[in-house]
Parts: sequence; structure tokens; C-alpha cells
Amino acid sequence: MREPIPTVALPSGIQVPALGQGTWNMGENAATARDEIASLKTGLDLGMTLIDTAEMYADGGSEEIVAKAIEGRRDEVFLVSKVYPANASRKGAVAACERSLKRLNTDRIDLYLLHWRGNYPLEETVEAFEGLKAAGKIEAWGVSNFDVADMDELLSVPNGGNVAANQVLYNLSRRGIEYDLLPWCQERSIPIMAYSPIEQGRLLHHPELIRVAKTYQATPAQVALAFLLERDGVIAIPKSSNPQRIEENRDSVDIDITDEDWAVLDAAFPPPSRKKSLDML
Ligand code: NDP
Repeated sequence: MREPIPTVALPSGIQVPALGQGTWNMGENAATARDEIASLKTGLDLGMTLIDTAEMYADGGSEEIVAKAIEGRRDEVFLVSKVYPANASRKGAVAACERSLKRLNTDRIDLYLLHWRGNYPLEETVEAFEGLKAAGKIEAWGVSNFDVADMDELLSVPNGGNVAANQVLYNLSRRGIEYDLLPWCQERSIPIMAYSPIEQGRLLHHPELIRVAKTYQATPAQVALAFLLERDGVIAIPKSSNPQRIEENRDSVDIDITDEDWAVLDAAFPPPSRKKSLDML
């Protein structure tokens, strides 16, 4: 029996799984579409019901894959998509959202994020997001790749305080946010969505991570995910187009790392001792 996936509360009170599914690179190639859809469905069956996509991924192709994976089970899913900064104007964001809804074959997106900061004033993007919320096209909105200064600025614009999440690069080898952004968000109950939680696979070759994982009969990916699951208000969104790896990632929930081994991992992947600007991929 697997342990249930822990949940994280959004500011609205809605609970979402702390372990979801990413979809970057899905929808690029017709030959792999079946595996991608099967993987996402496997994840849904295992409770990884938060799915993260973006209009950018495969130029909308990823959203189309997601549509096929969630067909007939929309209500089980917490759907996250993102608008390109270049589309994040008052009118542009509304039009982009409509296109995403069409590709996703749904009438609403649960969380709609500004993918990264662009040239449109935050006021304008927030106004567009609030309009989409009022129209029932999105349930909540958030941001991505925002550092503390961006978050401060966001909170200063009208309705900016309605931000429901910040999606940033966070994993064992990218701990910079622990210095300031993570506590800043935790104090305000704004969840962090950790993207590239296994550093796109690069993390998995680290000898110390391999060694610790072996002592738990676990894989390096599972320990890397357990590291994120250990933190309050953090949602990890690993991507895999392989159903077996989805199961492996799901089983990260069952690993209980001892304090001694967390200390070993801290030595191998030191937490930040000073401010570093936010990493992005
Ligand atoms: P991840 O850290 O999730 O790594 C994905 C890679 O790791 C894939 O190549 C996958 O291959 C492989 N993989 C997954 N599970 C395992 C495993 N158990 N063992 C070995 N290899 C594994 O990187 P992503 O960059 O994809 O990040 C996750 C999601 O975050 C994205 O898909 C996207 O939704 C989001 N994201 C958001 C960004 C933003 O700017 N907001 C930027 C980057 C990502 P395979 O599929 O073959 O299993």
C-alpha cells in the first residue's frame, strides 16, 4: 500500500498534491505521443493529479497531449498552464487563455501562470488575470520565475496579493531560494512549485545522492523528490514520459530520510549562505 501524496494548500484553501506532473517536451513528436499520454494517465491513477503545462511547450502541442490524458476525467485534475510574457497584455492574456482552453479541451484552467516577467506592466497582466477569473476561465492565477523583488512589486499592484503560487527552479543542486524566496513565500502561504525537480536528470549522477539512495533501496530521483516533499508549501512537478518512472517518482512519498542523512545531503548540496539571484532554465 502506498502512502497518500501529501497536499499543499493554495491561498484559496484548495488542497493540491505536493507531487504533480510536468509536461515540458511533450507533444514535440507524434511518435512519442502515446507514451506521453499513457504516462500522464498513470500519474493520475497514482494521485499525481496536478498537471503543469504551458502554451510555450511544443507550441501548444503539450497542452493537446494533456487534453488527451485528462479526457473524461477533468474533475480529478488540477490543471496548470502558463502564458508567454509577450502575450501577457490586458487583451493578449485573454486571447492566449482562450487558445489554451481550446487546446486543453476544457472550459477552465485551475491555475494560470505568467511564465516569466516580460515587458508588460504587472498591473496589466494582473488585471487580465482577474478578468479571466471573474469570467470563470481560470480559478486562480500565479507567476513563475519571480524573485523576491518581483514578488514585492507584484504585491504592490492592485489585486497583486491574489497571487496563488510562484513556480521556480528548485532542487537539491539549486537551493538558492532557501535563502529568501522560499521563506518569503512560506510566511505568506504562497506555494512554491519546484520545476526541474531532478535537474532534468543531471542530478541523478551525483555520487553522494546515489550512495544515500542505495541505503534506502531507493533511486536518486526518489531521494531528490523526497527532499522537496519534506518542505512546507512546496509542490514538485517532475516530468516523465515513461510510466515506470512515473511509478518510481510516485514512490518517493514513501521514503523517510533520517536527520543524519539529511545532514549528509546538506554537506553534498549546501544550502545558500547568502543571496543569489534566482536561477532559471
Ligand atoms: P525534470 O527535473 O522533471 O526532469 C525531467 C527529465 O528527467 C526527463 O528527461 C525525464 O525523462 C527524466 N526523468 C524523470 N523521472 C526520472 C526518473 N525517475 N529517473 C530517471 N530519469 C527521470 O525536468 P523538467 O525541466 O521537465 O521540469 C519539470 C516540469 O517543470 C517541466 O516538465 C515543466 O512542466 C516545468 N518547468 C517549468 C519551467 C518554468 O519556467 N516555469 C521551466 C522548466 C520546467 P523521461 O521523460 O524519458 O522519463
